[in-house]
Amino acid sequence: MTTTTTPTSPLLKTSQLAKYLKRDVLSIALEDGRRVGTEGHAIVEEYLGARLEQIGCEPYLDDSFFQPYVQDGEYFTNIVGVIPGKNRSLKPLLIGAHYDSVIEAPCADDNAAAVAIALAVGEMAAESGNLERDLIIAIFDAEEPPYFQSDAMGSNRFYEDQMKPEGVHAALIMDLVGHDVCFPAEYLGQVPGIGSMLGKIPGLADKDINVPFLSNLLFITGTESHEGLVDVVGEHHSPKGLKVLPTLNSYVGDMSDHGVFRKNGVPYLFFSCGHWQHYHQVTDTPDRLNYKKMAHITHYASELLAGMDTREMPRGDAEQFNETLPLEASQLKRVLGPAHNIVLKQMGIGAIEERKDMTRFANALLSAGL
Ligand SMILES: [Zn+2]
Repeated sequence: MTTTTTPTSPLLKTSQLAKYLKRDVLSIALEDGRRVGTEGHAIVEEYLGARLEQIGCEPYLDDSFFQPYVQDGEYFTNIVGVIPGKNRSLKPLLIGAHYDSVIEAPCADDNAAAVAIALAVGEMAAESGNLERDLIIAIFDAEEPPYFQSDAMGSNRFYEDQMKPEGVHAALIMDLVGHDVCFPAEYLGQVPGIGSMLGKIPGLADKDINVPFLSNLLFITGTESHEGLVDVVGEHHSPKGLKVLPTLNSYVGDMSDHGVFRKNGVPYLFFSCGHWQHYHQVTDTPDRLNYKKMAHITHYASELLAGMDTREMPRGDAEQFNETLPLEASQLKRVLGPAHNIVLKQMGIGAIEERKDMTRFANALLSAGL
């Protein structure tokens, strides 16, 4: 397999990029999965090492993309490369996603999709040569249970043992970024007009419904980790075809590999489309992903990384909290468009004026299963 790095790069056009992402997803989302210790895990590990080389990475450490570690007698491997920036004395950026699967099944959305996006973002950075800083592509092992939040978790081992002393300038972590956001019919049933209509269609009551204008939602947590990120996210509007909703990490907790960066006070962003009905199921298959949406996320991630690249982000302490309410509220307005006031009214919220209003809105979304 060869990758093209000419002006006809497939990474530039959304439709071509979507096909390109799909090719990586199909290679990673093996039928029997890639649980730690399985043959599929070893096959995908090898594939990802080869892809880092193809997209123009250098090894991050020790002349190898493979960073093995042993924990409690089990063997794991993080896969880490670097796209060189123009000024290699600056602290690097990092884009990361886990590659292990929770069950012996494709687990396409969890997390082949994010790995494919990280590779494409890296390749775009290599092709454009625009970044001042190095960009670390960190493909973590062992994010899934029983390793989640344990000492064996790949991102924990990377941060504690493998990361160079200079650290990272900022990190962008992704998990569950391949699917359309859906709402359970049960929840939509409470919306006037829609509820009575749904009730008339047999068998629909327990299904997830795709709401076209919200299916392209992407949630971002972590803007609260640094005021510089509030500016970066506020200044970079998402591409057409993607709706971005910044929200607090504390609403959902450390769902993925960004946790270790957050706890250590590293400015970070976490991208996710939330949970869906195929989460951790054998039905999380490549045919169910939205590759166009993934292409938009790829472009958007590249834009935000470029924004972080040139922004000084002096470190405060890990407990600092930056008020992100104005950003969250204005993005919510953009996302909901003409439906904004109707939706808020339906939830019994007059307007988003205080934190408690946003907390109420976030809790409503979470109770819808997101
Ligand atoms: Zn998972």
